[in-house]
Amino acid sequence: MAIAVCHEMLKLMNRSTPGKPRQGAAGNPSRAEGPRRGGRESAAARAERAEQICGRLAETYPDANCSLDFRSPFELTVATILSAQCTDRRVNMVTGGLFRRWPDAARMAAAPQAALEAVIRTTGFFRAKAKNILGCCQALVERHGGEVPRSLAELVKLPGVGRKTANVVLGSAFGIPSGVVVDTHVGRIARRLGLTRHADAVRAERDLIACLKEPRWIEFSHRLIALGRAVCTARKPRCEACPLADLCPRKGVSTGAAKAAGNGAGTAKRNR
Ligand code: SF4
Repeated sequence: MAIAVCHEMLKLMNRSTPGKPRQGAAGNPSRAEGPRRGGRESAAARAERAEQICGRLAETYPDANCSLDFRSPFELTVATILSAQCTDRRVNMVTGGLFRRWPDAARMAAAPQAALEAVIRTTGFFRAKAKNILGCCQALVERHGGEVPRSLAELVKLPGVGRKTANVVLGSAFGIPSGVVVDTHVGRIARRLGLTRHADAVRAERDLIACLKEPRWIEFSHRLIALGRAVCTARKPRCEACPLADLCPRKGVSTGAAKAAGNGAGTAKRNR
């Protein structure tokens, strides 16, 4: 009986505490091993782990910011519309000339669609984007005196502006934490981190809002995007080099990929 009790106590002592960095076999913090993949994590434990993740990201990417070039909320709105299905680098190559030619909402609203299409062509989906940009600029002029509104409710009424674009503009141009920007990097890494299981951006954002403190919302996205570009890439997550390794259950990442990540081998499985 006493032996059985001792075994139970040992099991409890060896069980990893959610959110607490696990110890390696040698007693050193093991960045190769994160929290358990299975099992349920309470909302409180997830929030605590999310806060630790934010702290770690802040140490690693203190200067991470919006990588789209812009000088005004108007420019960021247009640049974000252009960034759909396109890299920020490509958008930045286009927006310099775009804003020299049409520097504000009123002038861009009057641009001939064909001329606008020609300038933004290399960003892809240029016809739809040109139509959205013209509609957005016309709405800005007609309803907001040519200025970008500071509210999510007003922003999402603009043509071509969805919740993600509105969050980008409010967060990066106005410093207003209206939500968490969930782009392809943020969605993928949030799932791997076990902060959401949803592929749908709106549902993923809801989960992130629930576990992150509001002052973290803006920086979290910028820093997770930096991590996604440098370490937690779509095809080859480099878990061994990751600053979040001891906080990440690596949901949906194949064990082989995680172990061989330092050599660039393996691929990520589809997330659950
Ligand atoms: S690289 Fe991605 S999956 Fe791997 S530990 Fe880091 S955040 Fe988790």
